[in-house]
Amino acid sequence: MALQDEFHFIDQIKPKRVSQSGLVAGIGDDAALFRPTSHMEQIICMDTMVEGVHFNSHTMNPYQIGYKALAVNISDIAAMGGIPTYYLVSIAIPKDWNEADLLSIYEGMAMLADKYAMDLIGGDTVSIAETLVITVTVLGEVETGKHFLRSQAKPGDVIFVTGTVGDSAAGLNVLLHNGIEHTLSEFDEALIRKHQYPLPRVEFGRLLSTFERVSLNDISDGLASEANEIAKASGVILQIDEDKIPFSEAILTKYRDRALEFALYGGEDFELVGTMALSDWDILQKKASERGYILSKIGTVSDGGPAVFLNRNGELQKLEMKGYNHFTK
Ligand code: ADP
Ligand code: MG
Repeated sequence: MALQDEFHFIDQIKPKRVSQSGLVAGIGDDAALFRPTSHMEQIICMDTMVEGVHFNSHTMNPYQIGYKALAVNISDIAAMGGIPTYYLVSIAIPKDWNEADLLSIYEGMAMLADKYAMDLIGGDTVSIAETLVITVTVLGEVETGKHFLRSQAKPGDVIFVTGTVGDSAAGLNVLLHNGIEHTLSEFDEALIRKHQYPLPRVEFGRLLSTFERVSLNDISDGLASEANEIAKASGVILQIDEDKIPFSEAILTKYRDRALEFALYGGEDFELVGTMALSDWDILQKKASERGYILSKIGTVSDGGPAVFLNRNGELQKLEMKGYNHFTK
């Protein structure tokens, strides 16, 4: 094992202070214990990142691996309309990882955890032959009945998306093909940043929770895949207008020809895509712009399906559920 002493390691990653008032016992006992907030539903999710599949030493450093492993989970809490509260980390450590790099992973997580006042409350530490595997579980909460499901889309709804899409996949492309040795332009850097430091849209999810009915999903596997998940869960057709998909200046400068492909099938943007009643859209748009959030209306929901269509200057093209899928490559 890369670590001299598992207990010494756990001592070092143990948080020095507590943020959540409901925490009764964190790291150090057989299990963690917390009191759920009254009138709140508890949310829980888990995501695993594997060296060689989700990252390698050329695409992300240990700090970024930690940051992103927590960010992708917080994004799932955001997609339920919730607030993240606690996290647990299971880490399988190969022999060639040293303690400093492992602590760096935890620093990357702590950076984001501090932003949301989350507490690290437990985990597990094991050794593994070759590739680092990190599994993060995040807990969160949302006011009872105020959560968002993918199954809430209705005909007549507006389809919206936060931020810009495709940047993370474009950033990964820069990392894999240009290499980090090359001098990078400001645009390259911006794309890479979106790959390494995706920002979960918790605040936007919370803004949405002031609305009655929203269907919501976060973009982990690409717009085509996420839109299909909403269409399937709700039994409707989602029609996305190609010319409304929001692209960053960076992607349009560096990858104009591939921007659409990256947005639809690239994934890992961790923006939110959802639908809501047309009558709520104007109010949402106003509130979002007051807060400086980038928000775009990209299409409409109609009866039928389930299916997703891309409207390319009036021509409808069916978008399949293809995105990154671990078992089809
Ligand atoms: P047990 O043998 O009872 O499972 P462990 O020795 O595995 O306990 O863990 C001791 C404490 O440290 C527990 O609170 C556990 O949740 C926590 N812990 C262990 N590994 C990690 C880790 N990689 N990250 C965060 N907390 C951890
Ligand atoms: Mg254990």
